[in-house]
Amino acid sequence: MKRCKRCKIHKHQDHFKEVNICIDCRREMNLARDRSVVGMIKIIYQSQKTNSIQRSHHLPDYTMEELLVFYNQNDNGLHKRWVESGYDKDLKPSVDRIDSELSYTLDNIEMMTWAENNAKGRTERHKRVMQITRLGEVIGIFDSIKDASVETGIPASTIHYGCNNDKKKTFGQSRFKWKYV
Ligand SMILES: [Zn+2]
Repeated sequence: MKRCKRCKIHKHQDHFKEVNICIDCRREMNLARDRSVVGMIKIIYQSQKTNSIQRSHHLPDYTMEELLVFYNQNDNGLHKRWVESGYDKDLKPSVDRIDSELSYTLDNIEMMTWAENNAKGRTERHKRVMQITRLGEVIGIFDSIKDASVETGIPASTIHYGCNNDKKKTFGQSRFKWKYV
């Protein structure tokens, strides 16, 4: 028998892989680490790198530390709500590309819950978009944000934000309004 330094419980030697901490405590500690903002961002960053390699895209053009700063400035309570929900998997924060054809840059990522991310994947991928002048005249209809971006030369992120009515972010970036058809 051996006493775990953390839970103070005496356990059989089989419950120890390391000197002072039992296996159950180590598992809890690892889970707590992975659920912290820093741990979560570390995992997300690693998967973005793997994802980029699999798709033959450029690696993220930011460091893990820069992603962490970006996350902390933009998360809008996402992580807090996930913690408060008792780690509901639907509320787990995700950091995804706005345009999945483009690589990971701070201009092309956004954060949302996993549930929102899944819904977005289902509904937005092939949504048609309208290009509208400031005076309200429709001057183009495209099969997707990507098509609109390719044909107009306007960044997909700008069109995406326009369609989602984020005025703060579209202001001054585009001469056009964008809407889903
Ligand atoms: Zn223990």
